Amino acid sequence: MAMEKAAGARPVNRKRKKVCAFCVEKVDKIDYKDAAKLRRYTSERAKILPRRVTGTCAYHQRELTTAIKRARAIALLPYTSD
Ligand SMILES: [Zn+2]
Repeated sequence: MAMEKAAGARPVNRKRKKVCAFCVEKVDKIDYKDAAKLRRYTSERAKILPRRVTGTCAYHQRELTTAIKRARAIALLPYTSD
């Protein structure tokens, strides 16, 4: 009765470790005026991408979220877009 779920088993070869881009650049404070950069961390619909997608570390994700929200407040980034 060994019902192992080997049916949909495919070799997932994504062991590649994502490193936080801000850590690499040794960014301390994320510039909320840099809309071009911030936009890379938002989805098509202007939503903030989760850490698991971008690989951003916890600290920088927090900074990033704040930066994006600030940028939205001064209309550099949209709140939503379709
Ligand atoms: Zn980081």
